[in-house]
Amino acid sequence: MGIHDLSDKHPDRESSSRRLRAVERLRRIRRERHTRRLVTAGLVTAITTGVVLATACGQAAEARSERAAEALNSPQTAWPVETVLDEIAVQREAARSAVEVGAAAEAEKRALDEAEAEVQAEAEREAAEAAAYEAAHPHWVTPSDDEISSDFGERWGRMHEGLDFANEPGEPNLAIGDGTVTFTGWVSGYGNFVVIDHGGGIETAYGHADEILVNLGEDVDPGEKVSLTGNTGHSTGPHLHFEVRIHGVPVDPLPWLEDHGVVPPENDT
Ligand SMILES: [Zn+2]
Repeated sequence: MGIHDLSDKHPDRESSSRRLRAVERLRRIRRERHTRRLVTAGLVTAITTGVVLATACGQAAEARSERAAEALNSPQTAWPVETVLDEIAVQREAARSAVEVGAAAEAEKRALDEAEAEVQAEAEREAAEAAAYEAAHPHWVTPSDDEISSDFGERWGRMHEGLDFANEPGEPNLAIGDGTVTFTGWVSGYGNFVVIDHGGGIETAYGHADEILVNLGEDVDPGEKVSLTGNTGHSTGPHLHFEVRIHGVPVDPLPWLEDHGVVPPENDT
């Protein structure tokens, strides 16, 4: 069936043409509707998205401002629990660190104090040892440069409690070590007499002096002149009578001096 046929049958042709137009219109309407739908859908999507975004932004902004406001009013309670816990942990850590630092400083100070005390104790110990050594090993010297003229011991039926040195008149009698003068003066038998306390129970005595050169209570050094040789008291001639007393008991001065590193001149008796 061709156009020619339609042309031949005019009403059918007209009817057909009308239908054709209707179909065309319908298609157009559908296209337009579809386009509208697409556009609408796009708009809706766009609008929806925009609204959602705007809403989200607005909510976020609102939330932020609320938080800020709350934070201003009450910083602690406004913070999320986790943040607060984190903050507490940080504070605890800081506190612990501070405590640890403090403890370390304390320990360091204690160690320093202990070291200082130890050093001081060591110094005191050394000083005590030095003093003990000095007490045990003082600087001793001979009481006279002259020869020994009479020994310690029994003599003429009685006890001779010292050493005699054959000093010439006026020759010095020397303190054998450092000490304090505990007696100066006249003693029957001894004449002009000097006693020196050297500490540790050690005393020395110097008799028959012509002249005493030290005063009571005076401190003397080893080799210091305590008196000048004479012939006072029970004496048969000028000489130095020298005694060593340990806790008040006279001992033989010769071995005692030798024990203390002093070698007196040869005994000529
Ligand atoms: Zn004597």
